[in-house]
Amino acid sequence: MSDFPPPPLVLTPRVADLVTITDLGYHSACWLWRGRLSRNGYGRVLVDGVEQSAHRWLFQLYIRSVGRKSHLDHLCRNRQCVNPEHLEIVTPRENYRRRDARLTVGNR
Ligand SMILES: [Zn+2]
Repeated sequence: MSDFPPPPLVLTPRVADLVTITDLGYHSACWLWRGRLSRNGYGRVLVDGVEQSAHRWLFQLYIRSVGRKSHLDHLCRNRQCVNPEHLEIVTPRENYRRRDARLTVGNR
């Protein structure tokens, strides 16, 4: 990776049309996907004829590629959010561990 700090994330006009920017109490505003949602609440996007997860697509567009086996955890706890700054690459194991931890403490 590079030594210089990453540039701030700037919404391209195309992406701005796809999201609604809403402050839901996380440290920065969530980008709520306005397109189709999957049954479990994740945004879906059609890229070059292939449907994929919107948050994954945007993360890779803005940050870096994500391995097929890696998950992206929503740090803001909002599945509809596609703000790359609210996502963290985690292993599936870590993702499930966090989900279980949340269920245990009774968070939504
Ligand atoms: Zn968010």
